[in-house]
Amino acid sequence: MYSFTAAVSLALSSFHAFHPRLAQLARRVFDEDHYDSELRPGKQGIGRCIFVMPDLTPWILHSYHGQPDEIATMAHELGHAIHCMLAAHHNILHWLSSLPLAETASTFAELLLIDHLLAQNPDPDIRQMLLFKQLDDAYATIMRQGWFTLFEQAAHDAIRDGATVATLGDLYLENLHEQFGTTVETPDDFRYEWVAISHFFSMPFYVYAFGQLLAFALYEQYQREGEPFKERYLALLAAGGSAAPMALLAQVGVDVTDANFWQGGFDVLARLVVQLEGMAATAE
Ligand SMILES: [Zn+2]
Repeated sequence: MYSFTAAVSLALSSFHAFHPRLAQLARRVFDEDHYDSELRPGKQGIGRCIFVMPDLTPWILHSYHGQPDEIATMAHELGHAIHCMLAAHHNILHWLSSLPLAETASTFAELLLIDHLLAQNPDPDIRQMLLFKQLDDAYATIMRQGWFTLFEQAAHDAIRDGATVATLGDLYLENLHEQFGTTVETPDDFRYEWVAISHFFSMPFYVYAFGQLLAFALYEQYQREGEPFKERYLALLAAGGSAAPMALLAQVGVDVTDANFWQGGFDVLARLVVQLEGMAATAE
């Protein structure tokens, strides 16, 4: 268990180690009493960062119980807040980043926190929980979203040819079987899971997968380059939504058409898998 004060100081010191500016901006959220961490009946549990106007420090809503993975959530939400504070000089239309870059600062901040915590050699249970959370989230947001897109493509084609709900269910189940193979049992009821996935209807071809993998790939670049990467990264966040994602990334030297850049993101994940497997092997 980590007290709220301990969690804040861990998050701030992990940001500070990267760049004092990140810690300074994150501190503003606490100084202005914009972080609602209190547990209250009926309060939404998961973290959420709320942006109102460029010149207002964002608000964060998060029910904090003291678990280590909640410090990662804290870092994640603070990452969102830092992103919009760094871009606060833009007008309201260019201030917030577009969807592909919307999870960059949050995921990156989470990775900074995880590395910081792991470097302090916490006990094996905490290490395992942190690594598992990272991989679990990455699966849900990178791989699963990719499979969702394949389903959406197939569904849109089938609907054009007059598909029924039953056909879409068959397509969905086929997608799940291909995705999980023999590793996960997929009961027949899951053929209707797509009905409950709201972004298929409200935001077709959601691109969050791109954003998450982008943050991992940028983190890999930071690990390779060290110091010179930092100012470029801050410039990327400070650009907010003032240009198209591809143009902003090109300005900071990232070519999103280069497969090697994306491979860097998967390399970060591969290292996490090796670490987690190593821990499981020693525990046996
Ligand atoms: Zn987020």
